[in-house]
Amino acid sequence: MRKYKDLAPSLRTIMTPGPVEVDPRVLRAMATPILGQFDPEFTDIMNETMGMLREVFQTGNEYAFPIDGTSRSGIEAVMVSLIEPGDKVLVPIYGRFGHLLAEIAERCGAEVMTMEQEWGKVFDPGQVIALMKRERPDVVAMVHGETSTGRMQPLQEIGRACRELDALFIVDAVATIGGTDVRVDEWMIDAAIGGTQKCLSVPSGMVPITYNERAEAKIRRRKQVERGLRDPHVDLSCSGRTIRSNYFDLSQLQDYWGPRRLNHHTEATSMLYALREGLRLVLEEGLEQRFARHKLQEMALVAGLQAMGLLLFGDPDCKLPVVTCVQVPEGISGDSVMHMLLSEFSVEIASSFGPLKGKIWRIGTMGYSSNQRNVLHVLGALEAVLIRHRAKIDAGRAVQAALDVYMEAKGTVYEASAGVR
Ligand SMILES: *Cc1c(COP(=O)(O)O)cnc(C)c1O
Repeated sequence: MRKYKDLAPSLRTIMTPGPVEVDPRVLRAMATPILGQFDPEFTDIMNETMGMLREVFQTGNEYAFPIDGTSRSGIEAVMVSLIEPGDKVLVPIYGRFGHLLAEIAERCGAEVMTMEQEWGKVFDPGQVIALMKRERPDVVAMVHGETSTGRMQPLQEIGRACRELDALFIVDAVATIGGTDVRVDEWMIDAAIGGTQKCLSVPSGMVPITYNERAEAKIRRRKQVERGLRDPHVDLSCSGRTIRSNYFDLSQLQDYWGPRRLNHHTEATSMLYALREGLRLVLEEGLEQRFARHKLQEMALVAGLQAMGLLLFGDPDCKLPVVTCVQVPEGISGDSVMHMLLSEFSVEIASSFGPLKGKIWRIGTMGYSSNQRNVLHVLGALEAVLIRHRAKIDAGRAVQAALDVYMEAKGTVYEASAGVR
């Protein structure tokens, strides 16, 4: 019989837009004992998690709970529950994940309208609102932090317009939740999807969502249609309006997470422990402090990259603070650099998709990975690898430039550093 070795993954420095490193306290939480899903100890954990999610989403919504699956399962749950076949859905696209929203809306049977922005930019809200006024969509779905291009879309004006024009506003905040401000209530987002393996620094496999009463009203209407269908006298022509998924039916999921506790699926016990611990750590740090930490790491990383003479990709006015996109220098193989970073330095960064594949690297500064040690390590490693690849860079400056940012933020002065400056 074949024998397999013990599982022994390497300890990497993960500087991608996810999955990122996980706090050992979260990993420890996952190794704690299993509870039955209706054990009061477990339902308390469910309730606590909902409470913490409300804080992280900055919302008073009753419903804020995780879907079991990766982030796109949360997107599917929200879209399949809120989009009725035939609904007009507007999806403004400025990167890969916008295309994902459009594809899922299509599969929900929507009449999908898209508008596209060049990769590396975001939309002027006025442009989106003008189209909304003309087309009157039932739903507008947008990405907040587009990890494929490293851009972040301002949402507040579009949210207000959705409310005025009575469209439901669905936002993919997978990459931004826990790393930068996501104000669900203030920005009038009707349904938001977060992510675990990005700035919350919890393993992939669960996805927090939240939705308000406007969204719930639509879900309830569709539920009534479903009940009506069991009545033999009912007109079956409205059958297309029922929610076309059992696993992702938010009307059932909210009855499982709510006080009625109607059985739906078996909650992913250990993943919920991980999420609860991850959220607890976010709130222990404090949202403001956490966002400031992410901002500081971004500043230090950017200072180091620019000191090397590398060029950043994209419009700086809408840069996503937790992902930095760097242009691969002329004549250099982006893949070879990434390969050497991983093999020789145990550092992982990412490439991109579609039109940007091979043209940029994406460096994440997310969650537990977003720290000084990692930023200095990635800068030192990247510089060394680029020198090996004979890239024309200003050598010897990157780590010093990042250190300047850290020393200034802390107000620390070392005797020896006077000479370097
Ligand atoms: C990562 C990501 C997703 C998809 O997440 P999965 O967990 O891979 O399903 C969706 N949207 C955005 C903006 C992302 O960054």
